[in-house]
Amino acid sequence: MQQERLARLRTLMEERGLPALLVTNATNRRYMTGFTGSAGYVLITGDRAMLLTDFRYMTQAPQQAAGYEVIEHAPKAAETIKDVLDKLKIGKLGFEQNDLTFGTYRSYAETLTGIELVPTDSLVETIRMIKDASEIAVMKEAAQLADRTFSHILGLLKPGVKESDIALEIEMFVRREGASSTSFETIVASGERSALPHGVASDRVLKPNEFVKMDFGAHYKGYCSDITRTVVLGTPTAKHKEIYEIVLEAQLAALAGIRPGMTGKEADAIARDIIRRHGYGDCFGHGLGHGLGLDIHEAPRLSVSGDIVLQPGMTVTVEPGIYVPGFGGVRIEDDIVITESGNERLTSSTKELIAIA
Ligand code: ZN
Ligand code: ZN
Repeated sequence: MQQERLARLRTLMEERGLPALLVTNATNRRYMTGFTGSAGYVLITGDRAMLLTDFRYMTQAPQQAAGYEVIEHAPKAAETIKDVLDKLKIGKLGFEQNDLTFGTYRSYAETLTGIELVPTDSLVETIRMIKDASEIAVMKEAAQLADRTFSHILGLLKPGVKESDIALEIEMFVRREGASSTSFETIVASGERSALPHGVASDRVLKPNEFVKMDFGAHYKGYCSDITRTVVLGTPTAKHKEIYEIVLEAQLAALAGIRPGMTGKEADAIARDIIRRHGYGDCFGHGLGHGLGLDIHEAPRLSVSGDIVLQPGMTVTVEPGIYVPGFGGVRIEDDIVITESGNERLTSSTKELIAIA
């Protein structure tokens, strides 16, 4: 697995004329090496693969990073990087421009004298977009954990309960079920707060005859799941039903239509056109979905600016929504993997409008 990822990365390095690449992004470090520690630098050349880390990890790193030479770096890691590159007579080093602060870059530039620093953009991220079978298997488990959480939480929704109590129960449940944490700050937004697309749980108390929108996920064996369901407490009004049915129609159409070969923008348009046709175009102000994997948000994006072409093995969310300020909002979100012929759903919780008596 690590060897295949290395081979793909070296191809991208070659295309860019890079004899060496320094990977500093923590998620990319884990993806490339399998090392789960909190600190380290991955240094890749044409024929060497090195993991530089510090004293704390000198037992763990060699166990996890199969196929990597593990090197204990000096207190100033850039000094060790310079030593290694000088020994290999390499005068050019790619770095991850989206990961380095300006201050760190300046300190590298001072230490790595005589070595040309070349900014790179999303090399490892490009490889990460396509999940292999073992990654998809873990993501399925993470998604099923989110499904079980939703079933569990349905039994706890009743008037008088605080949004933050629901969020706390979600967090405890995913951890009891084997997740290391939730995959992002849990959203529980009820009543008019459900119109906030990212309304994290507050101390608002649930009341009858209003929406409760819940968006959460499990961080499981390193991978993220992400699900949103919206239910009604008590009896839904005609307006609740109208908005819910439109979002559901848009979500089902997107799930039916998303296939390899289309761009993220084309996928987004399937749902957006339906919501627009029903007159709620202005109430759907975010993209249809995002890639997910080791990170909760990664490439590709399904949005009006999504120009990446979807390919088998990509995992993305499909999450249209309608948000009506002062009234409430609905979002329905599933995780899918793009297949050869279309897509397969990873989350499977019911999407019929649930009215909790
Ligand atoms: Zn979500
Ligand atoms: Zn999402």
